[in-house]
Amino acid sequence: MGISTKNLVVVGQGAAGLAAALAAAQAGRGADVRVTLVDKAAESEAGGNTRWSPSYMRMASVDRVEPSFVHDMLAATQYRCDETYFATLARHAPATCKWIAAQGVEFIQPTYYLAKGPPRIQPLGGGPAVVEQLVLAAKKANVEFRYGCSARGIVRDNGRITGLEIAQDGIRQVLPTDAVILCSGGFEGDGAKMREHFGDGAEVMRLISPGGKFNTGDGITMAMALGASGSGDWSGMHAEPVDARSTNSAPVVLVYPYGIVVDKNGRRFFDEGGGLVHETWEWFARDMQFKTPGRMAFAILDSRLLTIDGYERAIRSEVPPARADTLAELAKLIGVDAEGLAATVAAYNAACTGDAAKFDATRCDGLKAAATLAPPKSNWARAISEPPFLAYPLVGAVAYTFGGLATDDSARVLADGAPIPGLYAAGEITGHFYVTAPNAVSVLRAFVFGRIAGLEAVSFLRASQG
Ligand SMILES: Cc1cc2nc3c(=O)[nH]c(=O)nc-3n(C[C@H](O)[C@H](O)[C@H](O)COP(=O)(O)OP(=O)(O)OC[C@H]3O[C@@H](n4cnc5c(N)ncnc54)[C@H](O)[C@@H]3O)c2cc1C
Repeated sequence: MGISTKNLVVVGQGAAGLAAALAAAQAGRGADVRVTLVDKAAESEAGGNTRWSPSYMRMASVDRVEPSFVHDMLAATQYRCDETYFATLARHAPATCKWIAAQGVEFIQPTYYLAKGPPRIQPLGGGPAVVEQLVLAAKKANVEFRYGCSARGIVRDNGRITGLEIAQDGIRQVLPTDAVILCSGGFEGDGAKMREHFGDGAEVMRLISPGGKFNTGDGITMAMALGASGSGDWSGMHAEPVDARSTNSAPVVLVYPYGIVVDKNGRRFFDEGGGLVHETWEWFARDMQFKTPGRMAFAILDSRLLTIDGYERAIRSEVPPARADTLAELAKLIGVDAEGLAATVAAYNAACTGDAAKFDATRCDGLKAAATLAPPKSNWARAISEPPFLAYPLVGAVAYTFGGLATDDSARVLADGAPIPGLYAAGEITGHFYVTAPNAVSVLRAFVFGRIAGLEAVSFLRASQG
């Protein structure tokens, strides 16, 4: 009896979708599995968040994760995550990274912003290089790509997946398929869903990069229509502070720990030195969006910023800071209450009683302000006293959301704990993060579980032959 060809459709051309499609196409060589990847964006824009991401990955080197990796994930999620998921991630990460490298993506050990932290690797050329190289490799492996093609629903017959409903060029049709891998990202691009989960003001939150606008939670909705369970933290999102004036992608300003941050009344509202920048940026960005008058804030620094070795690495805005010789002039330039700012800086400077020689931007230096200061400043508390004074107007920008689909360590989508036959998911669309995003893990897990999903889907299709 001949072997019939089975169809597999992957939804989304980010890190997860590309890894899934490529792994499936390579495993399905011999032509018993035909792989199609659909993306709702035009070819020039497809790639979602991955296309815009520097794609730092939490690895000690290409072939090694830190021994503390799983523990760090448990701690970041306040022990709410599925430990098996992250243990699987750690186990498969080295082989996956070597496989990605074999497709033409070179990895380097990057210099991170300013502050150190866990070791990371990075694809040379970041996310754009990932998308470019993996699309090339997938085309070579005979993956068919369809752009401007939006997945709308999964068709089932007697419990078996038989098709994917798509809309392309204004026409709705059903693409016949025997299995589907959903890699269509979170819901940060859908204002109504953002508002539903994060409350008032979330619908106008800025997207950190243009790729996010395509991630409107479609895959989550489609899988849930089949009974898939939700998982992850539905009130969690990864957000970072960006320059309010910039129109660039991800114009982050990560020097705020070395000065103070005030609202438009000139008042401080959090501990700017509460941890390394990647430990405070998410809450700071969220507080700006949801708790600060006018949904913005201002990082206030003095000329000593310019003497910090490599400070430019922590500023990715193309717009120079506001600059003035006095705080009163600076306040006027940025539209902050001048009396409020003067009083705040005076109180802050009076509390900077530590030895300024201990200042070290690269680590938590323990240079804390006097306990009388409220809110406290736990590190890098150096007086703001040397003109010119500098300011960056900031807003919070969302990168991705945490709530998503429940999946197991074979990347199968779960409904009440049982896998939905033929349905897989990987990347941002899956709900495994809680509380705060573990630093530099989103691309890594997209690669690892994308590849697992591709291989598992091929095994499933082969098992269901005949
Ligand atoms: C500026 C920025 C910096 C970041 N930095 C890092 C970092 O250094 N390290 C890290 O680990 N993470 C980082 N992240 C997060 C990380 O890049 C993403 O979470 C990850 O790349 C997501 O990959 P993905 O494949 O799941 O989704 P995406 O890359 O977002 O891809 C989803 C794709 O699905 C498509 N799609 C959506 N809906 C449909 C539909 N209905 N039909 C068809 N196609 C659809 C979209 O067009 C898109 O191409 C960053 C994110 C941003 C934006």
